[in-house]
Formats: sequence, structure tokens, C-alpha cells
Amino acid sequence: MKLDNIDILIENGDVLTINSEMERLENGWIAINKGKVVEISNDPQEKQKYQPTHTINAKNKIVMPGFINTHTHIAMAYFKGLADDLPLYTWLNNHIWPKETAMINDEFVYHSSLHGIAELIKNGTVMFNDMYFRGSETAKAAIKAGVRAVIGEGVLDFPVAGYDGRDSILKYSLSLIEQYKDSPTIDVSLSPHSIYTCSIETLQKVLDMSKKYGLLLHTHLAETKKEFDDSIAQHGKSPTALLNDLDFWSDKCIAAHSVWLTDEDIDILAEKKVNISINTKSNLKLASGFMPLKKCFEKKINLTQATDGVASNNNLSIIEEISTTSKVHKALNHDPTFLPAEQVIKFPTINAAKALGKKELLGSIEVGKQADIITIDTDEIEAQPIYSPYSHLVYNLNSNAIKDVLINGKPIMLNRQLLTLDENEIKDRAKFYQKKMLE
Ligand SMILES: [Zn+2]
Repeated sequence: MKLDNIDILIENGDVLTINSEMERLENGWIAINKGKVVEISNDPQEKQKYQPTHTINAKNKIVMPGFINTHTHIAMAYFKGLADDLPLYTWLNNHIWPKETAMINDEFVYHSSLHGIAELIKNGTVMFNDMYFRGSETAKAAIKAGVRAVIGEGVLDFPVAGYDGRDSILKYSLSLIEQYKDSPTIDVSLSPHSIYTCSIETLQKVLDMSKKYGLLLHTHLAETKKEFDDSIAQHGKSPTALLNDLDFWSDKCIAAHSVWLTDEDIDILAEKKVNISINTKSNLKLASGFMPLKKCFEKKINLTQATDGVASNNNLSIIEEISTTSKVHKALNHDPTFLPAEQVIKFPTINAAKALGKKELLGSIEVGKQADIITIDTDEIEAQPIYSPYSHLVYNLNSNAIKDVLINGKPIMLNRQLLTLDENEIKDRAKFYQKKMLE
């Protein structure tokens, strides 16, 4: 019998495909070649036809699509824990924005991004949708790490992070579009920070640019009650309605947070097929409020999961995030049957892939899709016995159980060892910047 040469075979795993039938293959295997999934099966005979260059033994492991984090500020890694226990506006105005003005340059963003991306990988993340400054440096770090990213330069009206205001940020965004137009792993978005940091004119300009270049729009929406109340006072309408009147919304929008939504706002977001990025732990920590998840779910809005930046979370664990989301919204609705594990696991996988325009390539393990796959250990005493892998993913495991990360069929982490980044160097650099931050 002639054997088929393939790059990688993942075998003996509990494979959760997250395909439309939510198929699970116990003792399953996945053949991977040239970055793509070639075959998924649990037929031991069929497996014999493959001759893999590398084999990953996933015995006692869950094998599933890698996580996609739909709202990050990845270069904020060095701001982790710098200022906590404050309301959003005090935190931004008195701590984050002044420090950013003092610290941010290309070098800082590159190294802080590398740090944040190393954390992403350790949390099983294969793609992130980022909004920050000097995005070219974050893209460079993502390319070095082998991780996929959507890079959006945060657009604000006032001077920030070395920019003198909106026009210089938009100019930088244009250079990003040009620089990454042919990149296989880096996409560029336009990221107006919010309605409270962008004028109507700025929002209009960004919207026109996104239409011209066919780019995703990524913004913070209705994160706090203050933002909602100020919008009513200033414009006579909610943040969602204000953006709707500008014709801002479409299925190419990622609305991060979306906490303060009226029923009419939810109807708008549903009708325009806007993708919502849920940031539960950030909203809890900053006491921003509870987004109306059940109402959004019932209106069939595409719901995705994110962590927000580590300065407001303070980690990048998607497993922790979906667990918190599920439990918070069960409690809020007095309904333990709401958002079962099999449902919430779609938020950071197939739903997120759809939101970022990658539904055909990512978000599930299917033949022809990219092999962006993680393995998660269930052999530790605290994970035994295991009746349902979905239950364990949402209610039992933590990110330390994530062992292997493959992106585009390439191992990026094996047995928790980073293969593309030097972990010790990253930790040393963090200590160096910690000192600088406090000078
Ligand atoms: Zn944010």
C-alpha cells in the first residue's frame, strides 16, 4: 500500500470539531498537511495510510480549534496590575493615558506585544483582534510568534501615544493597510476608540475609509453607564443609535463590550448583523455593568468572547472568561440552563472566526480548513473523572492544562514550551520595563 506523506498526525485525542453538528470523535485523529486539515476520523485502519513527519500523541487530551480573542490591547502587557480598583474614566485619565504618553514608542510596543502574544499562546489563542498604537510593531511581534492578528490603530481625537491627534493616526492606519495587504496572517482593521473619544466627523472619516478599503471596524461600544448617559445628554440618543444614524453598523463591525444597550439598540445590532465582543471579566472588574447577553442571544446576534487588555482583566485566559460569562449570565437570569457549555464554547471559536471574516478558514476543525488546533490535558487529578469535555472546558479546567498550540499546521507551543519565542528573554524584558515604568 502506498502511504500518503503528511506533515503532522494528531492521534488518540478527544476531538471536538465545533463544526455545525458539534461532532465529537473520541480516540480521534487529525491528518494535517501544508497547514490544512486533510482528514479527521477515529477509524484506526484508515489512519494507517498516512506517513506523518511528526506525530502528536493526544491521549487524555481534548483536541479542539484554537481560541480567537476578539478584543485585545495586546501591547498593554507591561501595564498589567499598574493601577487597579478604579472606575474606567479615572483609570484611563489619571493612570493609563499619562503613562502611555510617557512610555509608548516603537520599541516599547514591540516588546510589550511580544510579551502579550506569549501569554496569548499559553492561553491557547491562535488569533487576536487588537486595538492599540504603533500596530506595525504588534504585527511584527505576531509574525515572529507565528500567531494570526487583526491590527487596528486606535483612533482618538486628542494627542496620545506620540500622535498629535486623529489625522496622524489615520495616516499611520493607511501605512498599515499598505504594509499588510498581502500578509497571510495579518489583517488590518480601522478602530475608532469610542464615541466619547472620537467626534462625529472623525467617525464619519473612519467609516468612509473602511468602506473604501473593505476593512473591519472595531470599536468600544456602550461600555459604561456614563458613556450611555453622556450620549443621551449630548446627542439625544444612545451610543448604538448614534452610530446607526451614521450608517456605521454592518456585519463587518466588532462592537466590544456592548454593555449599555436598550431593547431598540439590540434590535439595531441584530438587524445590521453586528458582531459583539463580550468582555465579562473586564466589565466586572471596572464595575461597568452586565451586558444583556440573553436578549442578544435570543435575537441571534453573533456573540464572541474576549479578554480586553491585561490592564483591565488582568490575564488573557479565554477558558476563565467563558466560564465567568456562562456563570454570570446564568445567575443574572436566574436560569442555570442558560448558556450551556456546548454553547459558550462557540463564542471564542466558530463565532469569533465568523466575526473576523474567517469562517471558511478557522474556528472549527474541518477538512480543508487551516490547522489552528490546541490540545488540553485532562489527565491531572483535578480533571478526573471526565464525563463531558465541554463541561470540563467551561467549569473545571484552567489555561495551564493547555499543552500544545498549532497555527497553520505549525507547532507554536508543545507541552507548554514556546517554540517561536524565548520565554526567559521576555520575562527579563518585563522586569526592565517595570523599573522604567516607575521612574
Ligand atoms: Zn478595550
